[in-house]
Amino acid sequence: MSADPKYKRVLLKCSGEALMADGTTGIDNDTVERIAAEIASVSRLDVEVCVVIGGGNIFRGVSASTHGMARASADYMGMLATVMNALALQNAIERLGIETRVLSAIPMASVCEPYIRRRAMRHLEKKRVVIFAAGTGNPFFTTDTAAALRAAEMGCDVLLKGTQVDGVYSDDPLRNPDAIRYERLDYMDVLSQDLKVMDASAISLARENNIPILVFSIQKPGAFSDVLTGVGRCTIIEQ
Ligand code: UDP
Repeated sequence: MSADPKYKRVLLKCSGEALMADGTTGIDNDTVERIAAEIASVSRLDVEVCVVIGGGNIFRGVSASTHGMARASADYMGMLATVMNALALQNAIERLGIETRVLSAIPMASVCEPYIRRRAMRHLEKKRVVIFAAGTGNPFFTTDTAAALRAAEMGCDVLLKGTQVDGVYSDDPLRNPDAIRYERLDYMDVLSQDLKVMDASAISLARENNIPILVFSIQKPGAFSDVLTGVGRCTIIEQ
């Protein structure tokens, strides 16, 4: 890496699927270690790092509710799944020598700290990686919305969405070779064209709080630090 990071405090949103190995579900240790290494390398650049992790590799509320389960109960299970992912990630990051705290929006005192905004701020100032677990703590929301919410609360300079591809495309590039990749988008472009980046409430929240969103590939080694120094490939969504 050549340049200095352009941002001081960032929030990385990773879906639970980013922790799976190809063709499986659940948590894959090698994959978790790879993502932990990406996070550790950014933390070593003196960037304050927040992480919001999804739970879709383990449980998704909407899918369960289509099979008859009460949506709110299913969503609570989804939020618990994010706590498992957060603990796996914390463990892997700490094995790399970086202090990490998990703060859960659903208090569970014997497992991790409860989410308290000022405490989270203090951890960041002490250069600890802070992983926000259990989404927003409310059913009928997503971890994308939790990411935008925590980024606003923490005063993050940027929200990074780690995906399977290197930006936002007009269509799924893995299925459609003619899909166009966007270098830059306005928040309103994403909403009006219904581009599948993050859900609409997350985009609106980022827009209202003027937080740029960088969409990049979490699969590409070194990409997290590269996009922060301006040399990596990503799509930027801003005003
Ligand atoms: N969830 C929720 N409220 C939140 C965040 C998440 O109810 O604030 C539940 C919801 O059921 C969701 C699941 O947790 O399906 C996992 O989160 P998400 O689908 O956002 O994970 P990802 O797709 O990023 O892996």
